[in-house]
Amino acid sequence: MKLSKIALEICPSPTLSMAARVAEKRAQGIDVVDFSAGEPDFDTPECVKQAAVKALEENFTHYTPYAGIRELREAFAQYLGTMGLEYDYTQIVVSNGSKHALKNAFSAILDAGDEVLVPAPYWNSYIDIVKMCGGVPVTIKTLKSNGFRVTPKQLEEALTPRTKAVIINSPNNPTGMVYSADELLEIGNFAVKNDLFIISDEIYCKLIYSKKLLHCSIASLGEEIKKRTVVIGGLSKSHAMTGWRVGFSASDAELARVIANIQSNSTSNINSIAQKAALAALTQAQDDAAEMLKHFEHRRDYIAQRISDIPFLSNLLPKGAFYLFVDVSKLLGESVGEYKIETAGDVAEVLFDKYNVAVVPSDAFGFEDHIRISYATSMRDVVEGVNRIERFVKENF
Ligand code: PMP
Ligand code: GLU
Repeated sequence: MKLSKIALEICPSPTLSMAARVAEKRAQGIDVVDFSAGEPDFDTPECVKQAAVKALEENFTHYTPYAGIRELREAFAQYLGTMGLEYDYTQIVVSNGSKHALKNAFSAILDAGDEVLVPAPYWNSYIDIVKMCGGVPVTIKTLKSNGFRVTPKQLEEALTPRTKAVIINSPNNPTGMVYSADELLEIGNFAVKNDLFIISDEIYCKLIYSKKLLHCSIASLGEEIKKRTVVIGGLSKSHAMTGWRVGFSASDAELARVIANIQSNSTSNINSIAQKAALAALTQAQDDAAEMLKHFEHRRDYIAQRISDIPFLSNLLPKGAFYLFVDVSKLLGESVGEYKIETAGDVAEVLFDKYNVAVVPSDAFGFEDHIRISYATSMRDVVEGVNRIERFVKENF
């Protein structure tokens, strides 16, 4: 009995796998600081929960249009409007989280063997999603000296006759880096020149930590660029709604129709109650989202400073999202007890086994010598987790 070759190549999400290991340890009563999955520790805003209760009481429990209820698609169109993007509601498809929106988008554009340019460090699931859709991910290693941002020259070098699309993720998971409008314009022009799709994952667009730095969507940089771009977003991060599973894609009308067709034959509409909750999130919970942003910024400032004060560790200051990408290369080549520390994965294992701190090693993101710390966790855990990392370094190096 042979399983699908494509399916056998798919790895479990390393971020979610680490989160599962944390849950196992905690079930044994061990106090683990969890810096693994990027999941806000906040509760979903009250008005969102109330909208869901109301939807249930009103028996809003049937199938809805498969691309989502019109009011919600309109609300997402308005949300994009605040970023200078004009979309009709028919160009929006509401999906089960932005992960599902990405899967739909790649299903809609890829044929077997088509290549997708993926700048690394990348969010882990891009690789497996592209593979699931029959595509071939082509990773491009960015340089730390360029703030982990891909350059048009690097894209040019990776181009082949099979290249079909490029992924851009700004603000970026795992580095927290943000592209400027000029950089995005160059990438957009490269895509136009080479007739490529752009998959622009903007799930962290509301999580930027500078009044001066505004989110720029690549799709806002000209009609030619917009036509070939799929903007991906969702509410998991900005509204503490990871479990509700609400994401969306916005694209050219024809592509949106194809994406909706795919969804109609796979998951149908997303949960009806979650749609009403999402509508409340977009229309009533702006203050809650702004409050969470303040907390994330405070945590970022604290953790970035504390980690860079620890000998042998360094990091760039993230400008968005809620991750710190920490260079651990100076720890490599040493031994800690029975552990030989040769890779970032070894650093993560010792931190988890001996210091009860869960981080994700950078091989999960197609990069070496770094660990990712998610600071979307309570200030108590941020402080305690950094204290443990500091102890780990001071005791062993
Ligand atoms: N894109 C990026 C860059 C992410 O970090 C994540 C998950 N945290 C997602 C997409 C998927 O999020 P969700 O499916 O919860 O919307
Ligand atoms: N995307 C989050 C992360 O990077 C959550 C885990 C996942 O969806 O894989 O940690």
